[in-house]
Amino acid sequence: MLPAEDLGRLTDEQLLGTRLCDLPLGIEGTHLERRVARLDEELAARGLCFKPHVWLSEEWFSPDEVPGFAIPFYLAHPRLSKLERKQMLEVEGGTEKECLRIMRHEAGHAIDNAFHLYRRRSYRDLFGSPRLPYPNWYKPEPNSRDYVLHLPAWYAQAHPAEDFAETFAVVIAPGSRWRRQYEGWPALRKLKYVDGIIRELAGKSPKNESRDTVDDLSELTTTLGEHYRNKRNYYAFLWPPDYDRDLARIFSPEPRHKSMPSAVSFLRRLRRELCNEVAEGTGVHNYAIDQMLTQMINRSRELKLRAHLTPEHTRQKVPVLLTVQTMNGIHSGYHRIAL
Ligand SMILES: [Zn+2]
Repeated sequence: MLPAEDLGRLTDEQLLGTRLCDLPLGIEGTHLERRVARLDEELAARGLCFKPHVWLSEEWFSPDEVPGFAIPFYLAHPRLSKLERKQMLEVEGGTEKECLRIMRHEAGHAIDNAFHLYRRRSYRDLFGSPRLPYPNWYKPEPNSRDYVLHLPAWYAQAHPAEDFAETFAVVIAPGSRWRRQYEGWPALRKLKYVDGIIRELAGKSPKNESRDTVDDLSELTTTLGEHYRNKRNYYAFLWPPDYDRDLARIFSPEPRHKSMPSAVSFLRRLRRELCNEVAEGTGVHNYAIDQMLTQMINRSRELKLRAHLTPEHTRQKVPVLLTVQTMNGIHSGYHRIAL
């Protein structure tokens, strides 16, 4: 194990060669500990005495039958958050607000396991069978009113257990105005059901008091370099086949425009801005958008495209194209099944 004071001094290369189990990290004494305490207060405010246990691992997740959840290691130290941003272009749960949103979702899984809620007939009737195998990807219906909107990418649609966790997160959030916000939506039935469960469980001890952890950081012998290779592969996107035509609506291969700036330089200059904009609008991981942008840049180079419209006009059209392509990608199956 590395000495804790060395972590801040290591180069990216040295870190990438380090095994996860050798990272000197813990939750105690960090901002994560305070955020977990906030989550516990939110649960207590609804009368729940259930407190999920937490541990560090590779990603956010709550394993089957475990009334707790894992928090990704990169949130436990600023040096690792910085590496995460460099490798993945975003830090999922990096801000206090986003972290608590995800924690409320994970608490939904944890309470589901703690009280065996998924075994209830009424749960299955409303959310579907939580024992269905997880799909490798899902096709969200962006306009559906059968599901709450909480985590990005219409995540409640990924699986019945995710639907429950997302609904729980919406109900438990302080100041949540879900009754008004979801008025007239079929999803309101789910919200009322979960609200009823929370009332019923107030003051009750969990049936499952296990403190098991799964893939605790101390057990993971992969290096950070391997971890990031896998993670990037996971978020890789298949570029839809008809994008040449779409690119041709914005950029031109015609020789008469050869004094205009190249599409490659235009896209490169705005890369970070475009990624953030489209990732925020679609809820798709920043890294996946960047993948598509890379392909757009490569294809523009092959076709020798030039930005012949005014810069403002081109600036307006590119995020629209990127958003449309992202949504097409989503409909051919997007796999953000990690939370
Ligand atoms: Zn989940």
